[in-house]
Amino acid sequence: MAQFPQASFLTSAWQPHQFPADHGAEVAFAGRSNAGKSSALNALLGRKDLARTSKTPGRTQLINFFALGEQLRLVDLPGYGYAKVPRAMQQHWGELLTRYVRSRVSLQGLIIVTDARRGFADHDRQLLDLVGVLPVPVHVLLTKADKLNRNEAVLVERDARAQLEQRASVQLFSAVTGDGLDEIRRTVLEMLHRTEKKEPR
Ligand code: GDP
Repeated sequence: MAQFPQASFLTSAWQPHQFPADHGAEVAFAGRSNAGKSSALNALLGRKDLARTSKTPGRTQLINFFALGEQLRLVDLPGYGYAKVPRAMQQHWGELLTRYVRSRVSLQGLIIVTDARRGFADHDRQLLDLVGVLPVPVHVLLTKADKLNRNEAVLVERDARAQLEQRASVQLFSAVTGDGLDEIRRTVLEMLHRTEKKEPR
């Protein structure tokens, strides 16, 4: 079922001046490449062709913006940790990501997508530290939960919670079975609407 039936691709950005107008509210998804970020976005957007946009050659290094309706957006941040990418390009991503996260007034929440089999890892912590200075909620999505048995899943979730303490909320998710889809949808909606009673930063 489409979770956001009005969703449409908005634009891609390689430089901050290409970001869409900084009004309204948006929730950004970040994760190491291959973590399952596109599959999660796909499940949320409910339209395979949309989230696949971010996967087309040339777009994986960009920040991709999707409109959910009037002034609401989901943002697909570039996957980090591509071993094969030249160093200069990795540096550009890092800078673009930092600029985006630190300067974006409409950013209302960050979803860190990570493979549940690895759990919350060093590269995820670096990202958390990057946004840790901002007053936006962070939610960790432990994806590919279908690859774990029940006991393993419970342990992974418990371990991630212990590591994160109060800095982020955590959930298990599977794009294959749809487990956790309602929870991530609810979380994203809460983040998007937290602006309504709040002054801009
Ligand atoms: P991205 O690079 O983070 O956007 O990762 P993708 O969404 O492209 O997923 C990477 C690989 O993991 C693909 O082969 C997906 O089919 C697979 N994958 C993604 N999510 C899941 C999941 O929930 N369960 C399983 N079993 N595989 C998944």
